[in-house]
Amino acid sequence: EMFGQLTSGLESAWNKLKGEEVLTKENIVEPMRDIRRALLEADVSLPVVRRFVQSVSDQAIGIGVIRGVKPDQQLVKIVHDELVKLMGGEVSELVFAKSAPTVILLAGLQGVGKTTVCAKLANYLKKQGKSCMLIAGDVYRPAAIDQLVILGEQVGVPVYTEGTDVKPSEIARKGLAEAKKKNIDVAIVDTAGRLQIDKGMMDELKDVKRVLNPTEVLLVVDAMTGQEAAALVTTFNLEIGITGAILTKLDGDSRGGAALSVKEVSGKPIKLVGRGERMEDLEPFYPNRMAGRILGMGDVLSFVEKAQEVMRQEDAEELQQKIMSANFDFNDFLKQTRAVAKMGSMTRVIGMIPGMAKVTPAQIRDAEKNLKIMEAMIEVMTPEEREKPELLAESPERRKRVAQASGKTEQQVSQLVAQLFQMRVRMKNLMGVMEGGSIPSLSN
Ligand code: GDP
Repeated sequence: EMFGQLTSGLESAWNKLKGEEVLTKENIVEPMRDIRRALLEADVSLPVVRRFVQSVSDQAIGIGVIRGVKPDQQLVKIVHDELVKLMGGEVSELVFAKSAPTVILLAGLQGVGKTTVCAKLANYLKKQGKSCMLIAGDVYRPAAIDQLVILGEQVGVPVYTEGTDVKPSEIARKGLAEAKKKNIDVAIVDTAGRLQIDKGMMDELKDVKRVLNPTEVLLVVDAMTGQEAAALVTTFNLEIGITGAILTKLDGDSRGGAALSVKEVSGKPIKLVGRGERMEDLEPFYPNRMAGRILGMGDVLSFVEKAQEVMRQEDAEELQQKIMSANFDFNDFLKQTRAVAKMGSMTRVIGMIPGMAKVTPAQIRDAEKNLKIMEAMIEVMTPEEREKPELLAESPERRKRVAQASGKTEQQVSQLVAQLFQMRVRMKNLMGVMEGGSIPSLSN
């Protein structure tokens, strides 16, 4: 399993919070130590780990109680959101030039998977309906050109070659001219890597870049090299200026350090990831999904998200007070029905948990439709009418106006008003019960 060790390292952090009621300065010390250790073992760079742990601690202490959500679940959510942020937040899309061809220049050290990425990328873009051409600029590694020609044939994309005796910048210039002539959408240029960074490679890349004026300059890095990958992205960016990185070999037993460090260390996003040797194994880098995978807790995450939305505690309590006071008006009605509607999507989440009752999609759709109808009617009421529903109860003219303005029938308006008064009656009865000694809780 990808990042397995990181996942289980983080798990021990949540486990230490089992049985706690609320996150405190004291009880997060141990879990934070686990998180720190897990990240360092995953080969995330130390300054990144420090900032991460600090930010998570600050948020954890400040969060307080969210009804129905346990402290360990809260911490999972905070860590998740912080991981997403660390990896750049949004997915970082490839940019295309306004006039074709878009030029994508690929750089990288030897053995990282650069040649493979050229063909994978062509395959990926071809599936989006773009015509591609590969330009074989790796004159340094023996057989790199042959390999590119074979892979190009495999994915059905032309490969422009000049052999190994021509200067890479010259190959780039001629290749680009050929791509223009053939009305190619995207030209992908392979360049020569070295075993390590050296001046010859950087100078060559600068030359090629100058000739091509590429839209994207992407550094291919190997996920197995951990935080070293982030350092490489930084160096290449300072030397030649790049637009992003492609992270390969994410399918192997890489520990996660590269995926988690690249953006934070270099300021450049990971745009694509390779997860295997097949031509299909290239996909966009989604920070969100990656964080979800690292935590391996999709269900918990969506549950906490919904609960946070719905159960802002103060709001719930204020609403409850209002309901009890029998002054319940259309403003409250709207708030309550909206909360219930959100709970509807929450039941969907709960429904995913084995053993819990299922809510059918049809029921949810009905509820959502009803809410829209009610909202439309309440929206056209005057502020006075919303606060004093009696006005509508007493005046057929007002109901008629609301019906016309909202495009609903007078009968629907009457129903809505009746519903509100029914609720008031129910509340009054409830108060009676309370005076009798048993206090029901509305929030649960
Ligand atoms: P280059 O020297 O950077 O051009 O590297 P190559 O493209 O020749 O790739 C080196 C090796 O890594 C080859 O055996 C590839 O099949 C392999 N490789 C490339 N990308 C991936 C990947 O995402 N996952 C795995 N498992 N192997 C990869």
